Amino acid sequence: MDKDGDVEIGIDYDLICPECGVGNPRDAKECTICEKNLEETILFLEDDSFDLEITKDCIIEYRKKFWGEERTGKVNKYHIRKIKNIEFGSPISRFIFEYNGARKVLPLKKENLEKLIHILKTLK
Ligand SMILES: [Zn+2]
Repeated sequence: MDKDGDVEIGIDYDLICPECGVGNPRDAKECTICEKNLEETILFLEDDSFDLEITKDCIIEYRKKFWGEERTGKVNKYHIRKIKNIEFGSPISRFIFEYNGARKVLPLKKENLEKLIHILKTLK
């Protein structure tokens, strides 16, 4: 029982697996469903048109269907050391960068963009 008198039932399954979207116990080392290594994930952002996973080496974009929670199955993986010319859009929140000579623009929710900026600073 905690200080409010509530009884804690079980464990919180709030560690979302970036690969399959299943909730795992907070201290899980790998996903109980797809066995993805969850310790590699530094940050996981759920956005409107994709989910974004950040590991120490990569930014991985899991594309989602238009207006849907469902994923398309398309996954774009960007190696952080190959990402160049990073810009952050304003006033519309966007993450813009160059990758293999192409310009990539990822529209992100403002709160997600702020988390991403913070994480990228700690990685560089
Ligand atoms: Zn999984």
